[in-house]
Amino acid sequence: MESAIDNGYVFPRPVDTRLMRAAIRAAYEGVDAGHGGPFGAVAADGEGNILSVAHNEVLKSGDPTSHAEILAIRALGGYSLAHVVLYATGYPCPMCLSSLLWARVPVVYYCNDYTMAQEIGFDDVAFMRVLGEIYCCHPVFSPESRTDRLSIRHLPLPEGKALYAYWLSRPDRGMY
Ligand SMILES: [Zn+2]
Repeated sequence: MESAIDNGYVFPRPVDTRLMRAAIRAAYEGVDAGHGGPFGAVAADGEGNILSVAHNEVLKSGDPTSHAEILAIRALGGYSLAHVVLYATGYPCPMCLSSLLWARVPVVYYCNDYTMAQEIGFDDVAFMRVLGEIYCCHPVFSPESRTDRLSIRHLPLPEGKALYAYWLSRPDRGMY
């Protein structure tokens, strides 16, 4: 497997997209169980081994923070996850991006863009706008780029679009 160096850490480059497909499968399981929105996540180590798998459980738990990415890193039982690569079916929301930063996760791959989440009724873009207004106008905000802290990489797959279409086709889908 080809290697890639990202944020100073050497990761295998999963060109077979196996890990993203595992995250998509987890999202389908969550939708079918009525646990939450069509979102899954896989945490893997640098060798490409799966460490945890999770799907959105907001509706099941009644907890608005039960996003797939949060549950995937919580399952690892540590606060310093600099050895972890996260695969998320959707572009992580601001809460999840912050959690990944706090956890020191260096790289996240996402499949579906946030505009796609907006198209199926989720508020990611609206919340990004709110936070943009807060941070752009706040006196402590520095324009210094911190992108070296978290590399966000797009890994689009046709299965990602199909996942959201499946969600929209479910008459029993619960919004939050
Ligand atoms: Zn999130």
